[in-house]
Amino acid sequence: MTPVEQIKSRLSTVDVVGSYLKLIRAGSNFKAVCPFHSEKSASFFVSPARDVWHCFGCGAGGDQFRFVMQIEGVDFREALRMLAERAGIELRVENPRERDERTHLFTLLECAAAFYQKQLASHSNVEAYLTGRGVTRESIEKFRLGYAPPESVGWRVFNEYALKQGYKPQELEKAGLAVKKQVSGYYDRFRNRIMFPITDANEHVVGFGARIYDDPQKKNNPENKEETAPAKYINTPQTPLYDKSAILYAFDKAKMAIRKENCCVIVEGYMDAIMAHQAGTAHTVAVSGTALTNRQLTLLRRLCDKISMSFDMDMAGELATRRSIDLALEMGFDVRALSLPSGKDPADLAAKDAAMWRSTVEGATDIISYFLAKAYGRHDSRTLEGKRAIVASVLPLVARLPREVDKAHWVGHIASHIGVREDAVWQDLGKESPRGNQGDIQKSQAAKPLREQTRTRILEERILGLLLTYGFSHVPALSEELFLSEDIKMLFFALRGAADVHEALANVPQEQLRTFANQLIFETEMLVAREGAEAEYASCMVELQRERMKEKLEQLTHDIRRAEEAGDAQQVSLLADEFSSLSHKFATIS
Ligand SMILES: [Zn+2]
Repeated sequence: MTPVEQIKSRLSTVDVVGSYLKLIRAGSNFKAVCPFHSEKSASFFVSPARDVWHCFGCGAGGDQFRFVMQIEGVDFREALRMLAERAGIELRVENPRERDERTHLFTLLECAAAFYQKQLASHSNVEAYLTGRGVTRESIEKFRLGYAPPESVGWRVFNEYALKQGYKPQELEKAGLAVKKQVSGYYDRFRNRIMFPITDANEHVVGFGARIYDDPQKKNNPENKEETAPAKYINTPQTPLYDKSAILYAFDKAKMAIRKENCCVIVEGYMDAIMAHQAGTAHTVAVSGTALTNRQLTLLRRLCDKISMSFDMDMAGELATRRSIDLALEMGFDVRALSLPSGKDPADLAAKDAAMWRSTVEGATDIISYFLAKAYGRHDSRTLEGKRAIVASVLPLVARLPREVDKAHWVGHIASHIGVREDAVWQDLGKESPRGNQGDIQKSQAAKPLREQTRTRILEERILGLLLTYGFSHVPALSEELFLSEDIKMLFFALRGAADVHEALANVPQEQLRTFANQLIFETEMLVAREGAEAEYASCMVELQRERMKEKLEQLTHDIRRAEEAGDAQQVSLLADEFSSLSHKFATIS
């Protein structure tokens, strides 16, 4: 058995989906409110018998893996890893040593997180500092906040503890927990710091963010401190587990809420994220670097359409921030900015006034309006210089919008505000060329045409659905004249070669086709009961034959007219014979 088969044998689709959604019995299937599109009544179905799911509202569907990929916003490899872990199956990877090292580093980081948590519990002054800033005990637990002891206790407190647990100094260095100096050897990277464990999407600790702890009692000589003051925040460096360009802080705790809200709030600090969660906006994550990366945005793109960014006013114009915004706009996100009262960061606001924080999140303004308002405030739109500055500050953003209608909206808006002709703004916009042509790609994906629903197409689908669902014993010979749709023919072909429907679908390499087959089965189950299946099948076959004959008769009528026009008497008589015998046949079929 392959790992995928092993996992499927231990974790059914009902198990997996049921751990995320409330499933309600619906005949032989289960149904739920779809997590992938917004709806009130349940159109999301799971079949225990076939181990698949399908949503009639948004067309999503597939197996356990597809579900985890979509709901967690992960790729197949990650879904495999998550499900393997749940099923208690060890995955063989290409390089077992590498895997062992990863597992080992994971347990080491877990050990460190637990160690720092315990230290926090025994340093009541640090805990008091946190609660003083508004962090509840519940949040301290949930985010597993910890404390790394100060130098006065020692430079190797965690090192010594970890060595006693059987870890090697090299492993501590590799996990980013220890630093090695030529003379003094290994010592703790984190000392006298409030520890924020950084987790991956699976809640595994992969690294730490660490904030210096200023003991309020020792604040007596601030000038002297300036010189030697260590960085306020330090992070785990790049390690085999921690890649800051791929991680979003609190993502594991936010992902469900992000999907539900169809929006992700992005803040800059660990405290901002924690306080935002505490204030009831659980769809918040923090970036630990300055700019949002492509990988982080890709992760979010699977979960939501909207991102609301919070940055302080001075940072908004900075290159890194602008790059994040450009990237997000190009990926088709609806990008918004949080307008915080001046001088406040999200953590302050959320701690002092949770309701106001929530309304700030609710009232996030469109990013282009945000920059325009700033530009209008800063430049005089009556002067040429002012006009240029306003255009320069927002046009690069407008150029990145994937939809033409949005571009037109902003061009019109800017032109009227600064009092120039729209085509002048359009011309300037043309000079702003965003990288690549991602907009076009997105457009073509969005405009995927729905299947054409003609009468014959519906009949073809119904017949195939009946065969897939009930009529496996008598799969008819494929009639090229009867079935014309390519996808239907391919599924027929798969059915005829297989022992049962599971095998048939397992042999279909195209996921889209398998999803389509599943949809047909769910549809058939709802529309036709087993008792009526045979009669329905027979009547659909007759109906399809009649439809095809009608088409053929229409074609013949057309051909006869052409032959008459051409004066080809022989051809006319030949076609007329064919027409009369076919219409005779048509009359006998009912
Ligand atoms: Zn749906």
